[in-house]
Amino acid sequence: MLHPESMILPNLKQLEVWFITGSQHLYGPETLKQVAADSQAIAAGLDAAADIPVKVVFKPIVTTPEEVRNLILAANSAPNCIGLVAWMHTFSPAKMWIGGLTILQKPLCHLHTQFSREIPWSSIDMDFMNLNQSAHGGREFGFMVSRLRMNRKVVVGHWQDSEVQREVGVWTRAAAARHDLQTAKIARIGDNMREVAVTEGNKVSAQIQFGFAVNGYGLGDVVAHQNNVADAQIDQLCGEYDEAYVMADSLRKGGARREALRDAARIELALRSFLTSGGFVGYTDTFENLHGLKQLPGIASQRLMADGYGFGAEGDWKAAALLRAAKVMAVGLPGGTSFMEDYTYHLPEGSDALVLGSHMLEICPTIAAGRPSCEIHPLGIGGKEDPVRLVFDAPSGPAVNATLVDLSDRYRLVVNNVDVVSPLAPLPKLPVARALWKPAPDLKTAAAAWIYAGGSHHPTFSQALTSEHFDDFADITGVECVLIDSYTRLREFKHQLRVSDSTGVFATR
Ligand code: MN
Repeated sequence: MLHPESMILPNLKQLEVWFITGSQHLYGPETLKQVAADSQAIAAGLDAAADIPVKVVFKPIVTTPEEVRNLILAANSAPNCIGLVAWMHTFSPAKMWIGGLTILQKPLCHLHTQFSREIPWSSIDMDFMNLNQSAHGGREFGFMVSRLRMNRKVVVGHWQDSEVQREVGVWTRAAAARHDLQTAKIARIGDNMREVAVTEGNKVSAQIQFGFAVNGYGLGDVVAHQNNVADAQIDQLCGEYDEAYVMADSLRKGGARREALRDAARIELALRSFLTSGGFVGYTDTFENLHGLKQLPGIASQRLMADGYGFGAEGDWKAAALLRAAKVMAVGLPGGTSFMEDYTYHLPEGSDALVLGSHMLEICPTIAAGRPSCEIHPLGIGGKEDPVRLVFDAPSGPAVNATLVDLSDRYRLVVNNVDVVSPLAPLPKLPVARALWKPAPDLKTAAAAWIYAGGSHHPTFSQALTSEHFDDFADITGVECVLIDSYTRLREFKHQLRVSDSTGVFATR
């Protein structure tokens, strides 16, 4: 009924990671032939792995500084190459890698594996030892990457292990998001909610760091598209709503508020037209600046998120960009991903405190447990007409919240693992979509840690992704990531923040 993999999300199978294998000429041509054959088999195995959503492309083994450099030059300029997976079958002296690694502009994953799973106890000889040197070859390579202070993901284990393939797959999703952001355009419609701090930030630094461009647009730019919407388009879209959702009586054909539904549909069509014509993959709006629109976009933003657009309310362009990145990382995965807000607490005595997450309207229906209901209610702020919105609950199960904050000298990604639970009782009067969760390790620790870290109230909420996706995304984009999970202890967490404040390793350009 919804379109979670619409045209605005990339087809991950069109993206490539290059599988590169380091060796040297010390062992003779026969060994190198075997290295190439084994490497091809691993690349093919990873390419076929269900948990790796992108193509894994075998590249001829590299044995000299020139070959390393040429391969990396080619990777840098290959438009569909989103990153490199490097494996050292034998020992590949790492000074050979300096010329290549220092110019590498794509994410790097170091797969520390070995072709054969087990030691052949009865037949192992020096030929086998010469061929299978990952155990020390990978350490030589790893030293150089660390020596160059480069971020990369190190994945250890046999290449056919499902856990190894899963870890590589998570990294490829983060690399795909980084790739997407290089050309991502975010429209900031109507600027920021007045006086709000955390939704602001340095858009120049953000573009240098992440690649996405944020530019401002007036409401008139959207209204121009609204004026071009035809009645027939509105009829058709209202028909789509009728089919997809449980419609409130007043919104049905002939109902007292059907005109308001048509207004909402007109706004959705106008936004779609505006976003498509500008090539945007995300946008923000704010209820304080809606000149020419009858309602705050509710169902429109909900459905656009479901299609893969990044969205941030109140001008929160960092939320829009991070949601877009999360939407790309989550392509094809079960579970939804939404803009979210920590709204209200449930604070019983003891450790069962909960967060009711929601927003005024704009929660993505990919996280709906059932068929959303389409309703109309007053908003109470903004002075516009009652907006139409989809109302639903999120299904119970593990989820993650993540937010990107601008600390002025650097970006910090704050991540919290949470468990979504069913509402403790029905919420018959709450007219907005919502998720109820218990944060790890508990609300008392999690909220304090989040606040010490400067985390915003507009997280990206995902039941498709895990903290590992966001951690990999932070590494790839070169920003700090602080994780609040079941191991978090406040004293150590505060210490971690102080250390990162004092080192400057994440400073932006
Ligand atoms: Mn908000």
